[in-house]
Amino acid sequence: MKKYDYLIAGAGLFGAVFAHEMTKRGKKCLVIDKRNHIAGNIYCETVEGIHVHKYGAHIFHTSNKEIWDYVNRFAEFNNYINSPVASYKDELYNLPFNMNTFSRMWNIKTPKEAKRIIEGQKADLNISEPKNLEEQALSLVGTDIYEKLIKGYTEKQWGRACTELPAFIIKRLPLRFIYDNNYFNDRYQGIPIGGYTAMVEKMLEGSNVLLETDYFEFIKKNPDIAKKTVYTGMIDEYFDFQLGHLEYRTVRFETEVLDEENYQGNAVVNYTDREVPYTRIIEHKHFEFGTQPKTVISREYSSEWKPGIEPYYPINDEKNSSLYEQYQALAQKEKNVIFGGRLGHYKYYDMDKVIEAALACVEKEAAVSV
Ligand code: UDP
Repeated sequence: MKKYDYLIAGAGLFGAVFAHEMTKRGKKCLVIDKRNHIAGNIYCETVEGIHVHKYGAHIFHTSNKEIWDYVNRFAEFNNYINSPVASYKDELYNLPFNMNTFSRMWNIKTPKEAKRIIEGQKADLNISEPKNLEEQALSLVGTDIYEKLIKGYTEKQWGRACTELPAFIIKRLPLRFIYDNNYFNDRYQGIPIGGYTAMVEKMLEGSNVLLETDYFEFIKKNPDIAKKTVYTGMIDEYFDFQLGHLEYRTVRFETEVLDEENYQGNAVVNYTDREVPYTRIIEHKHFEFGTQPKTVISREYSSEWKPGIEPYYPINDEKNSSLYEQYQALAQKEKNVIFGGRLGHYKYYDMDKVIEAALACVEKEAAVSV
């Protein structure tokens, strides 16, 4: 007899949703995490009464009503709408690319004028089928926006030329010809009141949780602990990098408590020129309309992942995607292991997509009896 039905490696969103659903179905789950806290990269630390998004800003957004209802079972969401500002040298622009951006850029008023300028800039480029991020961006917004708001930021974030990056990355951003600074097109959006950590804690009720526990060491000592494993770490590491390393980007945060109430007047300010070394500054209190006397800011620096540091973003370019497919083929042979999450699926997932994937996995599991 195995002690648990599932050993879940990683107490992030994928693992927590999976554990919650299986516990609800009468299964016994043990969730382990190598960090000293739950919630993976959506973990928040409270500093000066402010929820600090320790592993980068997370704004929940989805168009899937089922997923929205699902997260609302674990937390009430506030009405935060993400509207980042871009700082390019001494110029400030609204994001995403919308009439506020265009009117500032070209001193124009109407959608017709904006479209005419973009069409004019595109016409000289002759791009029919965009092959990479640069071509995709140019064919959407023309050269001015690309040069000032996309090129520098993207190259800092990904450490690669825009010509070497997949087009889909830029399609995450809305483009609209109305005066609307909402960064997302999704129907539902917000930040959980009480923070993400409390939300995940609720999901994990009824599961056993072991922190500061490395999966590889744990499984060596406890090979028979569970009938199945859910692994949400790096898929290439699971296979001991036997086919080579997948590439990831990592982010380093320089977090500071400032003795002032309001530093930048917005939760997110992106620095889109190459000269400023960080990609953005997050002022955490603004995600929750905080009125604390102090404020906490994080400057975000992006670099290539190396062993020993935290991976954040998979790099879904051609080279890595084909290596991932080979790892996926190995994963399919592991009959008692389920891979999931951003690192297990090597996918640039948003939170709602992680939950969708976890719920789909649960359905698949429920269909085969453990
Ligand atoms: N991006 C950009 N300029 C910006 C913000 C984003 O060019 O000011 C591009 C960049 O290539 C980035 C992509 O849009 O990788 C997706 O941005 P998003 O804000 O979705 O990234 P995340 O919040 O996941 O880091």
